[in-house]
Amino acid sequence: MAHDFDFDLLVIGAGSGGVRAARLAALAGARVAIFEEYRTGGTCVIRGCVPKKFMVYASDYGKQIKQAAGYGWHAENVSFDWSHFSSAMHAEVDRLSGIYMRNLNNAGVEVIEERAEFVDSHTLRLTPSGREVTGEKILVATGSAPWRPSPGELPGVEHTITSNELFNLEELPRHLVIAGGGYIACEFAHVFAGLGVDTCLVYRGETVLNGFDWDVRTAVHEGLKEAGVRVITHTVFEAIEETADPEYPLHLTLRDGTKLDADVVMMAVGRRANTSGLGCEKAGIALNDAGGIIVDEWSKTSAHNIWAVGDVTDRMQLTPVAIREGHGFADTEFGDTPWHFEHEDVASGVFVQPEVGTVGLTEAEAREQYGQVDIYKTQFRPMKNMLSGDATRTLMKMVVRAEDERVLGVHIVGPEAAEMIQAVGIAVKLGATKPDFDRTCAVHPTVAEELVTMRTKWVPEADR
Ligand code: NDP
Repeated sequence: MAHDFDFDLLVIGAGSGGVRAARLAALAGARVAIFEEYRTGGTCVIRGCVPKKFMVYASDYGKQIKQAAGYGWHAENVSFDWSHFSSAMHAEVDRLSGIYMRNLNNAGVEVIEERAEFVDSHTLRLTPSGREVTGEKILVATGSAPWRPSPGELPGVEHTITSNELFNLEELPRHLVIAGGGYIACEFAHVFAGLGVDTCLVYRGETVLNGFDWDVRTAVHEGLKEAGVRVITHTVFEAIEETADPEYPLHLTLRDGTKLDADVVMMAVGRRANTSGLGCEKAGIALNDAGGIIVDEWSKTSAHNIWAVGDVTDRMQLTPVAIREGHGFADTEFGDTPWHFEHEDVASGVFVQPEVGTVGLTEAEAREQYGQVDIYKTQFRPMKNMLSGDATRTLMKMVVRAEDERVLGVHIVGPEAAEMIQAVGIAVKLGATKPDFDRTCAVHPTVAEELVTMRTKWVPEADR
């Protein structure tokens, strides 16, 4: 029956999730086509994780050069060349995008660089060619895009940029204002402050990184200020106007009456699933209120022959999660090895400076789910900072279930925290207990050794 269709599998979107699924399905013998309207590699490679991490490195070098003075280095008159950096970053992004394309071709996937929209549950229409293509099964992996209020909600919003445009700025901003207090707002506030840009972050809440462990949020919030970012809380943008001043071409009014001047204003107030204009209703695909595709644990949509993975499903907006979801789908439907990704204990990093690494439950979540929990935590100046004069402290926190001492969550703010949490994530996934951590011998002298040497339960000040 499969041969009544042009292909066994059509994949919409050549980002992290779509590419993994398409390649594995093709390698398992399926006839696969993948459609991409922009560039192969998706958000992660083209305008997300990858170029962002290069920016973090660029920014961190500035800090390290300054700190090297404490170790006897003389590095006066150093300067940063944005256009040199930007060209090098884009060249690497182009190289990686090319690798994605080659891998798809080598696996025998037909790559079609056009936009695809549903005509019905087995048919896609392509733009600009107008051609129609049919498939027995379809995978939607169209990702997400930055969300912005409409001009009616925020007059002057058209003068703002999002993280998409940030990667293509021709010059380093001089006065940057960022809206939001999530991953993207905090990461870029640090990047640009580190590059010497006058940076201001405007957040509607009290403490950034909503949803993270409270100690992490506090450390990151304070860290932004220590890095020189002006942090304004409890308010949002009310209006943005253009001015004739070349130094400050944009003038902002906040709802609390504060006035700000800037040359670049970035909105980082969340991302929405890319389903607009996709024709999901024509294929019988149900969406949630935010436009995300509703899927079951097998990533199957409400249409019997259509699946969805990655950001478009509004589950966890993380590249490695999209890859695992796509992998599970391909193995299940084309590889005869059914499995699906479990979304518990996913470790992740936030590339603020210093980094956040986190896995498992926050203290608040653990208390809500299990009542009795033990907390182990420490805050200290890492050894490297002693001579450099950097006052930044490292935070390590372990959330442990009291009844059986199982480690439910680990939260780190400090140098290489994201690298550390990748390894700690294995132990947490395996169900390690606090005594398992204690039995593990330290590696000395490291920052990470604190993870296996925290002995004393933390007692809240009120109970001391
Ligand atoms: P987040 O959901 O992380 O944060 C959105 C921020 O915008 C929150 O602070 C939120 O406030 C605020 N906000 C939402 N709506 C409004 C509004 N109408 N007006 C003012 N403020 C508003 O989104 P991001 O855009 O930062 O990132 C999107 C996702 O991308 C992340 O959730 C993450 O999954 C992924 N990502 C992952 C990275 C990584 O792994 N290192 C890096 C970058 C992105 P409030 O807190 O009050 O809700």
